[in-house]
Amino acid sequence: MANAAALERRDRAIVTLAGVAPDLDGLGALPELLTRHSAHPLDWFSRYHHVLGHTLGFELVVTGAAFLLATRRWKTAALACVTFHLHLLCDVVGARGPDGDQWPIPYLLPFSRAWQWTWSGQWALNGWQNFAITGAALAGMFYLAWSRGYSPLEMVSPRADAAFVAALRERFGAGKVGAPPRPARQPAGLKEGDE
Ligand SMILES: [Zn+2]
Repeated sequence: MANAAALERRDRAIVTLAGVAPDLDGLGALPELLTRHSAHPLDWFSRYHHVLGHTLGFELVVTGAAFLLATRRWKTAALACVTFHLHLLCDVVGARGPDGDQWPIPYLLPFSRAWQWTWSGQWALNGWQNFAITGAALAGMFYLAWSRGYSPLEMVSPRADAAFVAALRERFGAGKVGAPPRPARQPAGLKEGDE
């Protein structure tokens, strides 16, 4: 999704992070695991996963943050909104727990409990479908990195990303696509157009 429009590196990162943001509510898994056998176990994962982050309320927070942080605000916020919902859709379609729990998505929270999204055809989180989709997504990522000259690695290290792209182009050739050269790196900190 971050590649759906011509966006700067920073805005692409915002769109990508919006897609994983819902699972922030799964961070309670760590304290829950660590305190499992203690006298006062914390059930933060069981209690909050999907209830805090996989909701319209959090979606508004994420899209709002994307709007404020982005350089191209409207486009980035719109794509962040789409990736966020894509995450929810994928959870409904293919994230059945090992115990068979469907993890219904209470989409309208905190405004209403009326909707609890589930799908009877939901496959398991470790189902073959997810491996197939992951394989296809990786292949797509490799292709985009090769043709456009950047990959999600850019969020971690632009230098590692450049090395990755160079390796791909050395292996698979670079001529045909006619990719434009990488745009000059923006200095860290505020850029023109930021506020
Ligand atoms: Zn999720």
